[in-house]
Formats: sequence, structure tokens, C-alpha cells
Amino acid sequence: MIDDPILIVEDDPVSGLILEKLLVKAGYQVVLVREGQAALNILAERFIPLIITDWMMPGMDGLALCRTIRSGTYPGYVYVILLTGKDTKQDLVQGLEAGADDYITKPFNPNELLARLNTARRILEMESSLRRAAEEIQRLSILDPLTQVYNRLYLNFRLPQEISRSQRYGTPLALVLCDLDHFKEVNDQYGHLTGDRVLAAFARCLEGCIREGIDWVSRFGGEEFLIVLPQTPLEGACLVGERMRERLGELGDQNEMGRIRVTASFGVTGWPGTGSTPTPPSLEGLIQKADEALYRAKQEGRDRVCCLPDSLSEPR
Ligand code: GH3
Ligand code: MG
Ligand code: MG
Ligand code: MG
Repeated sequence: MIDDPILIVEDDPVSGLILEKLLVKAGYQVVLVREGQAALNILAERFIPLIITDWMMPGMDGLALCRTIRSGTYPGYVYVILLTGKDTKQDLVQGLEAGADDYITKPFNPNELLARLNTARRILEMESSLRRAAEEIQRLSILDPLTQVYNRLYLNFRLPQEISRSQRYGTPLALVLCDLDHFKEVNDQYGHLTGDRVLAAFARCLEGCIREGIDWVSRFGGEEFLIVLPQTPLEGACLVGERMRERLGELGDQNEMGRIRVTASFGVTGWPGTGSTPTPPSLEGLIQKADEALYRAKQEGRDRVCCLPDSLSEPR
């Protein structure tokens, strides 16, 4: 936290200098500006979580600055201390109501100001550790722990959004559902822990075949994965499925599991997004079709890709 500078907003050069000297001596870095808008401009460029601001300033005053900060969104909490000559109870209430976290009157006692800065840092540290914990919980709640791809919960939330998006922009959407072939035998022969490692390696292999930031992989069930390919026509998705199948074949040569040869079957489906089928398929309908294609790939001998258009796009 002490790595972050403190942003001082003070129009009076002498007061600004005194404050700056005190804080620098106490080990802080300081950024000094003369009025509220300049402070906001700094905040737009880089996040500074701790601000000491004067109230009366030409341009944007301290109260307006507090209100603007509270109505904005920042990467973390912004702790604002109002440091002002306005010293009535009514002023104090008005300052806190505008969104200040603390209120100190001028002339101020240096030790008191430093003590209050320690309080501010304590609160900011607590806030940032809570925020990090919440982000971690959020991350864990949508990832499959074994393979680190998205889990079913995320799939159920995100796939309907992809369908709506595809409808809104008239772009195609494709799914690849894949399942390792005879995976039970891998477990039986090498044990479940090795089976787990094969699953994780398979997930990495799938991720290596897609466009980062656009396509995404989810674990659909035990050894089944569903890959979502936005803005991808069925033919393109079939090529992706084929690439995945081939890469899986090469996987054994690249890692320590070289002796274990696994293959997978791929069911591919897609919705064109435009043209004769303006109604988007349901999540269930689309997955059902991919499952049907996967079933065919298994029936036809495994280690292959089978492509089927979604039901709504099929000729009637
Ligand atoms: P098929 O080619 O018909 O798909 O045959 P299969 O053996 O892969 O299919 P089946 O559905 O009979 O078996 C799936 C196996 O996947 C059984 C189960 O033990 C294994 N499996 C599912 N989840 C996990 C997991 O998290 N770790 C391990 N090691 N194995 C898993
Ligand atoms: Mg002033
Ligand atoms: Mg299987
Ligand atoms: Mg299966």
C-alpha cells in the first residue's frame, strides 16, 4: 500500500508544499494537483486509492470531487480525506455526506494526519484483500478444478448469452462436443490418477486448438468437453474438430504420457445465425444436436468427427 502514492488536491501552493513535505518525510510518494478535475484526470490514467483533498478550490471543489468519485467505478475503493478550513459541525456532516471517509480541519496536527492515514491504509488493505478473495472465489466457482476449463455452471450461464449474441449480430455459432474413446480402459489399465492427468492434458490440447478470447472450452461431464465457437460456420467448426482430433493423436509424442494413446470422438453442430432460420435454437436443442453428432461418430467407429446442422437449419 505504501507503494501507492497519495494524491493531494490543494489549490494553495504553500499548504500543498507543507503537506507534501510531511508525507514525503513519512515515507509516502505524493502526486499534487490544484483542483478536483485535475485529480479525476489523474485517476482516469492510473488508480490511486488514497486522496487528501481541500474543500474550497477554483474549478471543481472537494465536495464535487467526493461526489464524482463515489458515482464512478474504479478498480478498487478510493479513500478520501477532506482537509479543510471549514470547521463547523454542519460542514463536517456535509463533507461526510458528499462521500468523504474522513474529515480533518486546518490547521491540522501532523501526527493526527499521519495516524489517520494509517487508518486509511488499514481499511484499504482490508478492502483489497476482500476483493482479491471474492475474485478468487468467483474464479473457482466457474472453473473445473481438475482440468481448469470452465465448468457446467458457467456453460449454463454463458451459452445462452452466446446464442443471443449470435442472433443479435446475425453471426453463426458452433459447438463441438467431444468424448474420449474407451476412457474407462485407460483408468482400468493405468489407474484413475493417470486417467486424471490424461483428462487434464486433453483439456490443454483442446484449448491449444481454439482462438483465445473468443472460443472457450467447458467440461460437460466426466470425460466429455463442450467447445463453444462463436462467429464460426459449421464447416469451420468441423475443421476445428478435425484439428483437435489430429492434435490429440500427436499428444502422446509430446508429453510424459507418451505410452498412453488416447483418441476421441467429436460431434459438431452449428447455427448459421442468419438467413432462413431467424429463430435461434435453444441451449438444449443445440447441445442435443451436438450429442447426436457425437453418438454418430462413436457409432461409425470412434476417433472421428461427425458434423450435423442444428435441427432448425435442416431442410424440412
Ligand atoms: P466410449 O468410447 O464409449 O466413450 O467409452 P468410455 O469408456 O470412454 O465411456 P464410458 O462412458 O463407459 O466411461 C467413461 C469413463 O470416464 C468412466 C469414468 O471412470 C471415466 N471418468 C469420468 N470422469 C473421470 C475423471 O474425472 N477422472 C478419471 N480418471 N476418469 C473419469
Ligand atoms: Mg483551498
Ligand atoms: Mg468416452
Ligand atoms: Mg462419456
